[in-house]
Amino acid sequence: MNIILLGPPGAGKGTQARHLVETRGMIQLSTGDMLRDARTSGTEMGQKVAEIMDAGKLVTDEIVIGLIEEQLTTKKGAGFIFDGFPRTLAQADALSALLAKHGQSLHTVIEMRVDDDALVSRITARSTCANCGEVYNDITKPIPADGKCSNCGGSEFKRRADDNEESLRTRLMEYYKKTSPLIGYYYAKGDLRPVNGLADIKEVTASIEAILG
Ligand code: AMP
Repeated sequence: MNIILLGPPGAGKGTQARHLVETRGMIQLSTGDMLRDARTSGTEMGQKVAEIMDAGKLVTDEIVIGLIEEQLTTKKGAGFIFDGFPRTLAQADALSALLAKHGQSLHTVIEMRVDDDALVSRITARSTCANCGEVYNDITKPIPADGKCSNCGGSEFKRRADDNEESLRTRLMEYYKKTSPLIGYYYAKGDLRPVNGLADIKEVTASIEAILG
């Protein structure tokens, strides 16, 4: 079963993807994570990607489609969770073609609905465990008082370079201009299932579980 988690930055896609990986053995394909790895590679491409990401702009379709294709070819599991991909109509078309090429199809597109004010406060308060990627929020889910990650016990936490208000405004603009048309695209295909991303994390998980069956 292959699914897309669709929604603006801060909607909770990564958090829900991690849950599906743990409970169902699915494979999370986050182009954001892949690009964050690429930027530390020290290559010219990595440097270029870093500048684009920090500004909150979208990386070219060609780069991200290439990253996804590589993963589809090499990884096997109980289905893929596309997290942060596709982000443009060209990427959506490329994904259909790639899945068909690998004899696979798309099961569902989960649209995580949230409002913009919630996104700004969520993202500017966000940090993650440097070891396992567990997501924390200064207000709703603070790092435990003992300074240790509740998931893995790690004691190093990081904030993303693009999780600041200025870059977030650009990321939101990119989302509305280039990614939100995908909502209509998948709705018309009959694949779209909305969930309320503002609900408590566990409730969102339950809604997604109910959709996936
Ligand atoms: P994310 O972790 O999904 O919020 O992505 C962080 C940043 O990586 C985005 O702001 C973009 O600069 C870049 N990025 C991630 N996925 C894509 C994509 N599918 N297409 C273009 N750029 C992407």
